[in-house]
Amino acid sequence: MIRLSKNQSLERLNTFGIDVNAKFLGEITYPEDLEDPNIYKHLIDKQFLTIGGGSNILFTKDFEGVVLHNKIMGKEIIADNSSHTEVRFGAGENWHETVLWCLKNNFGGMENLSLIPGSMGAAPIQNIGAYGQELQNIFVELEAFHVEEKRFIKIHKSEMNFGYRSSIFKGSLKNKAIITTVTLKLSKLNHHIKSSYASLANYLKERGINHPSIQDISSAVIAVRQSKLPNPKELGNAGSFFKNPVISVKQFEILLKSFSVIPHYILPDESIKIPAAWLIERTGWKNFRKNNFGTYPKQPLVLVNYGNSSGLEIKNLSLAIIESVKKKFNIELQAEVNIL
Ligand SMILES: Cc1cc2nc3c(=O)[nH]c(=O)nc-3n(C[C@H](O)[C@H](O)[C@H](O)COP(=O)(O)OP(=O)(O)OC[C@H]3O[C@@H](n4cnc5c(N)ncnc54)[C@H](O)[C@@H]3O)c2cc1C
Repeated sequence: MIRLSKNQSLERLNTFGIDVNAKFLGEITYPEDLEDPNIYKHLIDKQFLTIGGGSNILFTKDFEGVVLHNKIMGKEIIADNSSHTEVRFGAGENWHETVLWCLKNNFGGMENLSLIPGSMGAAPIQNIGAYGQELQNIFVELEAFHVEEKRFIKIHKSEMNFGYRSSIFKGSLKNKAIITTVTLKLSKLNHHIKSSYASLANYLKERGINHPSIQDISSAVIAVRQSKLPNPKELGNAGSFFKNPVISVKQFEILLKSFSVIPHYILPDESIKIPAAWLIERTGWKNFRKNNFGTYPKQPLVLVNYGNSSGLEIKNLSLAIIESVKKKFNIELQAEVNIL
């Protein structure tokens, strides 16, 4: 049974540490509880928000509806052969703890995604990615409760519309369904080691690791991340605030006329991805701090709350950054973080 409490602070439920209230707050432990008429009437009548680790959300005001903290746990092997295993995870499982569990069992595929905060259930929403790996490469299917249709649905990988930090949950299913389980396909042998990402490759080379195991990859990712990114337990943040923009070759060539060196990656469809951090640095936002908010000194793509800052202040900072980048480069940055 889900017990809803009225007017609850969400400060401890978001990694920015923004102190706003939810009109109603409850914990989901079992998927079936969502069908309980006492809960369902709130979901269908009011705005609802499912929250996992709150590591990809910026609250700018109180939430005038129902916030459901996902605590659906469980790990179940549902298919297994000599080379692969398929595991169905409860959406409330902590992502990084699950990575560690997989490494302990020598299941490969998640190692490059080590130390990403948050829950299993949120991982497919923006197709989390890091250090050369994306969730979509190991994703099989998920189960979710479709609120309007009042039924559980299964969504297979082919229906997920995965893209860069994107999925169907950013499109037609946005705010419509609550993910309850996620099934991943993981390797048991001949792991597909992804070590070419520059900072990862350097870390391994410096230590003379020429044939890294999945455990080596995870340790390298953890070390590199810890050297670059703030720990949300110590400094409020939600990781990269903006997506890396993707532009056409034509636009890139125009930019090259004004800026002779622009770091970039050419994507398979020949469009060009530019690191948002570089654009932000070049518009003068590196080491920016005002009152209790700013950009993280080691990585300006990360906006931080030094304490007691409001979500609105951080949102306004993000808008000012977007405006500067647009003015200087004619590129429109898009927020990766969900602003509410
Ligand atoms: C220090 C730091 C580093 C990060 N690094 C990375 C990185 O390398 N790569 C990356 O991709 N992301 C990164 N992130 C962002 C974030 O950790 C991920 O997006 C993560 O998957 C969010 O999980 P969460 O449970 O905290 O989601 P939340 O913030 O709780 O929710 C995010 C969104 O998903 C929705 N949602 C959550 N759970 C459910 C559910 N069960 N059903 C339906 N909707 C749901 C919420 O309503 C919200 O819209 C980083 C964040 C931080 C703080």
